[in-house]
Amino acid sequence: MSNSTKYVFVTGGVTSSLGKGIISASLAKLLQARGYSVTIQKLDPYINIDPGTLNPYEHGECFVTDDGAETDLDLGHYERFLNTPTSQANNVTTGRIYQSVIDKERKGEFLGKTVQVIPHITDEIKERIQILGKKGTYDIVITEIGGTVGDIESLPYVEAVRQMMWEFEDDCIVVHLTLVPYLAAAGELKTKPTQHSVKQLLELGVQPDVLVCRTEHDLDLTLRKKIAKFCNVSVDAVIESKDAESIYEVPLMMQEEELDKVVLEELHLPKSSAPVLDRWKEFLGRLQNPKHEVNIALVGKYVELKDSYKSISEAFIHGGTELECKVNLNWIHSESITEENVEKVLGGHDGVLVAPGFGSRGIKGKITAVKYVRENKIPFLGICLGMQVAVIEFARNVIGLKDAHTVEISPECENPVISMMEEQKKITNMGGTMRLGSYGCNLISDSKVYQAYNRESIKERHRHRYEFNNDYLEQYEANGMKAKGKNPETGLVEVVEIDDHPWFVGVQFHPEYKSTVAKPHPLFTGFVKAALQNK
Ligand code: GLN
Repeated sequence: MSNSTKYVFVTGGVTSSLGKGIISASLAKLLQARGYSVTIQKLDPYINIDPGTLNPYEHGECFVTDDGAETDLDLGHYERFLNTPTSQANNVTTGRIYQSVIDKERKGEFLGKTVQVIPHITDEIKERIQILGKKGTYDIVITEIGGTVGDIESLPYVEAVRQMMWEFEDDCIVVHLTLVPYLAAAGELKTKPTQHSVKQLLELGVQPDVLVCRTEHDLDLTLRKKIAKFCNVSVDAVIESKDAESIYEVPLMMQEEELDKVVLEELHLPKSSAPVLDRWKEFLGRLQNPKHEVNIALVGKYVELKDSYKSISEAFIHGGTELECKVNLNWIHSESITEENVEKVLGGHDGVLVAPGFGSRGIKGKITAVKYVRENKIPFLGICLGMQVAVIEFARNVIGLKDAHTVEISPECENPVISMMEEQKKITNMGGTMRLGSYGCNLISDSKVYQAYNRESIKERHRHRYEFNNDYLEQYEANGMKAKGKNPETGLVEVVEIDDHPWFVGVQFHPEYKSTVAKPHPLFTGFVKAALQNK
């Protein structure tokens, strides 16, 4: 059977956290830079339908796409590297696969057959992989299989890969990521774990075509030959992947190792034009040689796990690099902030960001942080819950509505300045939960956001249930907090600012999801600029 789209499967062995997402994104970047149209998909073996319901401590942040899918954070890397949007089809979980198969069974679509892992679950997986290929938009689809080969829950995915390798022989390859650990006592790199992990794949019927070996030391030719020999791959297909200072160096390291070349050869695709990476290199140059530096506090409640705010920290790297500025992010636990220590904790920062979030934990500290930056004229960016908290703080301490709150935390409060939108109530009653994905927003020209975007009409991604209560808007504006951006259809307040402040911006949407290397997000650049001026 012939198929015009090529498929690259990325599997992982030996251990988790080898950075399959970054390797997949780097490979995709190199192929894109050679003129191929590429997309990346992540298959997650867990049973949740999507990561929307997962605590960020489990898998890090939940990334949101334009079409409102709540997805794995690796999709954020894909977008940041490729500068092309992903969608619901780019992230599939076991939960979703089973849900779809069970729905079909209930509708009688299997005509009385016994429904089984093979072929029904594997067919569903194969269909999901090919949805992107069949669009006709992509030359190459890279599918990253979450988890580690040998995990029970990964088995149906590896089986689906085996079947596709058989059915579309010339159009599919497997890139296997493994670890070559350094044994300090022996003073050498060890290839055995890699050999075992490839054996494990072979037991499942899959021969990898390319091995990307994570290592802390150089992989010399002898070692490469040894790995090649034991794992049935050519020496060229043994790729060294050393630890990098920044994830943005990895595409160039992979280019050096000729990963893209080997992959194109294996896929029988022309590799005539060399990758054009000028913009990328320019970015990297600025990232590595900053002229300025700012200290920004990130106030949130998941600060122990940096992945919980991945898109925000990456957006700071993009925005800062644009200004040749290194952004030192200080992660501050909102629960640790009190009236008494706020000066000590936040003083000395050039800017403060209050993070998105859900629930009541840490809210008090966030409100205290906002009061401090508002009164001390420190540049402030509030994202989603961060914006809502800014609205609550202003009501309590400026307007004088002492019990003002969000109905998320205090459903019966007297002054629900953040409440549930009527539209959302209907959706919630129907079992839906949040306002998700991309919505339009019109900006007022006399505003900091307009200065940053330099545009009147913008589109940003959302993930929230609650919103600014427009019944209070007049009181806010009379007291100095103004709505500077609104949804053109519903009038929902998307942006609030305080004019009498160097840079105080709260946004209901999530700008961080749209920041990429090629297009640093204007709000992050604007915020870092304000922080620089505040120094
Ligand atoms: N919990 C708030 C809401 O649902 C904010 C959500 C967020 O910060 N993403 O509206």
